[in-house]
Amino acid sequence: MNEKAPKKVRKSKATKPKPEAKASKTKTSESKIPGKKKVLVLGGGFGGVYAAKELERLGRGKLDVELVNANNYFVFQPLLPEVAAASIHSADAVVPLRQLLRRVQVRQAEIMGIDFDEKKVIVVQGTRRIPVDLYYDELVIVLGTSVDLKRFPGLSEHALTMKDLADAHRLRTHVIGCLETADVTDDPEVKRQLLTFVVVGAGFSGVETVAEMRELVRRALKYYPNIKPEDVSVYLIEYANRILPTFPADLAAYATKRLTIHGIEVLTGVGTKSATGTAVELTDGRVIPTSTIVATIGNGPHRLVETLDLDMHWARIKTDRYMRVPGRDHVWALGDAALIPLVDDPKEDPADYATQTAQFAVREGWQLAANIVAKLNGQELKPFAYKSKGSLASLGMSKAVADVYGFKLSGTLAWLLWRGFYLSFLPGFAAKLRVGVTWLLNSVMPPNIVQVQAPPPATRYIHYRKGDKVFEPGMLIDGFYTVIRGAFRLTIDNPETGEHFEKVFGPGEHFGERVLVRSALRTGLVVALEDGLLLFIAQKDFTRFARAFPFLDNYFKDYIERTFGGLDKSFAPGSTNAKTELETLP
Ligand SMILES: Cc1cc2nc3c(=O)[nH]c(=O)nc-3n(C[C@H](O)[C@H](O)[C@H](O)COP(=O)(O)OP(=O)(O)OC[C@H]3O[C@@H](n4cnc5c(N)ncnc54)[C@H](O)[C@@H]3O)c2cc1C
Repeated sequence: MNEKAPKKVRKSKATKPKPEAKASKTKTSESKIPGKKKVLVLGGGFGGVYAAKELERLGRGKLDVELVNANNYFVFQPLLPEVAAASIHSADAVVPLRQLLRRVQVRQAEIMGIDFDEKKVIVVQGTRRIPVDLYYDELVIVLGTSVDLKRFPGLSEHALTMKDLADAHRLRTHVIGCLETADVTDDPEVKRQLLTFVVVGAGFSGVETVAEMRELVRRALKYYPNIKPEDVSVYLIEYANRILPTFPADLAAYATKRLTIHGIEVLTGVGTKSATGTAVELTDGRVIPTSTIVATIGNGPHRLVETLDLDMHWARIKTDRYMRVPGRDHVWALGDAALIPLVDDPKEDPADYATQTAQFAVREGWQLAANIVAKLNGQELKPFAYKSKGSLASLGMSKAVADVYGFKLSGTLAWLLWRGFYLSFLPGFAAKLRVGVTWLLNSVMPPNIVQVQAPPPATRYIHYRKGDKVFEPGMLIDGFYTVIRGAFRLTIDNPETGEHFEKVFGPGEHFGERVLVRSALRTGLVVALEDGLLLFIAQKDFTRFARAFPFLDNYFKDYIERTFGGLDKSFAPGSTNAKTELETLP
């Protein structure tokens, strides 16, 4: 790819706003400030923040810079594994965008579409979610990437990810939840599953996540008297033949050794095939029973970017060396979302392009800002050029590896360098101070094992492997299940009357609807007869929904009578013991 636009430039067909977006009433002119050009920056991550800051500095008086981001804060992603491990507080890994960008207009909104012909971006903001059009003179797309686990059945539904603050928080809560249950369960199989932690992908975010998670578990164990250190298993799974591909081989070997000493089983040359809520299956046929799968793989195209009809390669927007998007006037792209060549005639070699790291995104932001200002001043643009200064990865237990300016370091010194570097890189004095103090306190204080629970989504897909139990007699009822794929067998045995009931459910059929009439314990056993997928709706939500639509309520009542009407009525789920309240209409 060279500076010129590629021959095959797609016709300027804008992403059509969705019908509701067309109904937009608010029209914001290019710039509200007369004589100023409007630059819209889409995305408030590393690339967006540093580009917007520099645009404001270089274009002061001439540019009206606005940054749009889904959250009102900037996430310092390299510290997310520390948040997940409770080494720092969630709030310490984020900085309010308005504090970072004092002179830039910040808009918290979700970007829904871009109309390149009209030079406008459609966003929704606020609780009323009314679409608003934002017009631009120059547009900067820096929306990062999305996690795409579609290639691995079950991973999207059952793996935790490590991309934003909510992910880190969820992982920490989940790990502590596993320890809480493992400490009290009597079932050895369940205990083993709860105490097995699997991280998939051994790039630096996977390595740091597995190391920090191991550290959290190790430090927390003294508060869980029924869990012995040998009950815990931690795996790091990597498809390539070694971990940390961006590091020199000897540092990667050191890292593998340290992780192994730390009690982490590092499996290389093997990938994940599929996952369920109770296990992960590897490409070599091994099945690891686990309740915790963290996927740091699957960097896919950003969902909105994918719909923009732009030239994409390797799931990134192709740009020229100046970060302009070929075929789209006034549109620029950078950061993880963009494929920026580092040489004039790039080949199919990742080394010919900017890498997807914060280090690059920051430099791209600076250069892009200079190029936009140069363009508006009629000056020459400069191609983006940058050589990585190196990489650092923390390995837990106060150890790290560093490859900086060609110098290779490992162990405690590298770890101190890692901490010092990220502290200096963290934007804002207050954030630096908070993280520094927390790190100091954490070295002498016990880990924080408070579990602030976030309920799982009320509606979700659940994968099952052949033989898995969906529920069994005596379990508190949880919700309603619809079969999407596979076959599931329900058996109900009444020990008092000797009654036996059996039914197999296939795609489109459902079970668990008796939550509508009874709320207590299950009397039946449901087992997957083959690998399958269920849609689960939590009891409260299902009941509300069915009650709100009389035809649904009537359908289920009729279905229950037709299907289970012959069963002994006294064999009610938990009619004599645990009962939970059925919700009444407000
Ligand atoms: C766990 C982890 C550890 C890492 N560690 C390192 C490290 O040690 N060193 C390093 O150099 N790099 C590291 N990286 C990579 C680095 O964080 C990324 O390369 C960098 O964040 C890319 O910046 P970006 O601005 O392109 O995208 P992002 O930082 O992802 O920012 C994109 C922004 O766009 C916003 N957005 C997306 N869609 C919408 C929408 N529809 N509407 C509104 N806003 C939207 C998002 O909220 C986000 O704020 C790490 C990444 C992770 C996940």
